[in-house]
Amino acid sequence: MVLRDIKSYVNLRKHDMKVKLEGMEFPPSLAIIQVGDNEASNRYVRNKLKDCEEVGIAAHAYTYSVEITEFELLEEIDHLVSFYDGVIVQLPLPPHIRIEVAQAAIPPEKDVDGFRHDSPFNPATPSGIMNYLDFCGFDLEGKEVMVIGRSDIVGKPLAKMMIDKNATVTLCHSYSKLSNHLHSSDLIVSAVGKPKFLNCYSIHVPVIDVGINFVDGKLVGDCFNTEGREVTPVPGGVGLLTRLALLENVMKAKELKDGQMDKSFTNS
Ligand code: NAP
Repeated sequence: MVLRDIKSYVNLRKHDMKVKLEGMEFPPSLAIIQVGDNEASNRYVRNKLKDCEEVGIAAHAYTYSVEITEFELLEEIDHLVSFYDGVIVQLPLPPHIRIEVAQAAIPPEKDVDGFRHDSPFNPATPSGIMNYLDFCGFDLEGKEVMVIGRSDIVGKPLAKMMIDKNATVTLCHSYSKLSNHLHSSDLIVSAVGKPKFLNCYSIHVPVIDVGINFVDGKLVGDCFNTEGREVTPVPGGVGLLTRLALLENVMKAKELKDGQMDKSFTNS
C-alpha cells in the first residue's frame, strides 16, 4: 500500500500547526471574501473558518450582497488586505464581477490561494496532493504519472510540480486517448468532475480522485469500482488536503511577512 490514511495525516499536520501557534500574540490571519449566498460557497467558507479556528489562525469571513459592484468590491479588498496576512476570494463570484480583477486586487504575498501567476504560493489542491504524496513516501522521480484534467487550478499546476520532481507527466484532457496511458502509469490523478468517469476495476496503481460531484444529493468523486483498489476517498480525501494546504499557505504568508522565510521557499 502506498496511500496512507488522509484523515490521520491531516489531523497530524493540524496538530503540529496548533502547537506552533499556541500562545502567539499575533497569530497568522486570513480574510475570506464572499459575494452572494451560494449554498456550496457557504459550506466551503464555514469549513475554512472551522479549520482556522482549530489550529489558531485568526480568520474572518466578509460576506457582501450580490448587488455590490466590482468597483465597490475592489475598494473593500483594498481596505482588507492591509489587516490580514492572507486574503482569499471565495468562488464563484456573480457574473458582473471579473474573477481575475478581484484576484489581482490581492497583493501576491497575500494571495494564499496561489491563483496569481506571481504569487509565491502554490494553489492549494495541487500543493496539498504533493505534500500528501511526500508524506506517503511516494517518490515521483522517474515515475510515469497520468493527470486527467488540465485546468489552471488543478491539472496544469500539478503537472508542473510533478515534472519539477522529475516525474514524466502525461497531462490528459477531453481530446486524449486515455486508454493509451491508463495501464502504463505509476500514478493516476483524476481531476475531471464527472461521476463514474474512471473505472478502477483494472487499475492497480494508486489513484488520486480530485473530482467533486453530487449524485442524488450525495458527494462522489470521479472514480468507481474502487473496492480493493488504492483510490483516495471522496468525501474525506483531496478536499481535506486542499483545506490543509490553505492553512499551510496562511502560515507561510505570516512567516514571509515577519521575514522568517526567503520568498523563494514556495513554488519550488
Ligand atoms: P475543470 O476546469 O472543469 O476541468 C476539467 C478537465 O477535465 C478539463 O481539462 C477537461 O478537458 C477534462 N475532461 C472533461 N471530460 C473529459 C474526458 N471525457 N476525458 C478526459 N478529460 C476530460 O475542472 P477543475 O476545476 O480542474 O476541477 C475538476 C474536478 O475537481 C471538479 O469536480 C472539481 O469540483 C474538483 N475539485 C476538487 C477540489 C478539492 O479540493 N477536492 C479542488 C478543485 C477542484 P478539456 O480541457 O479538454 O475541456
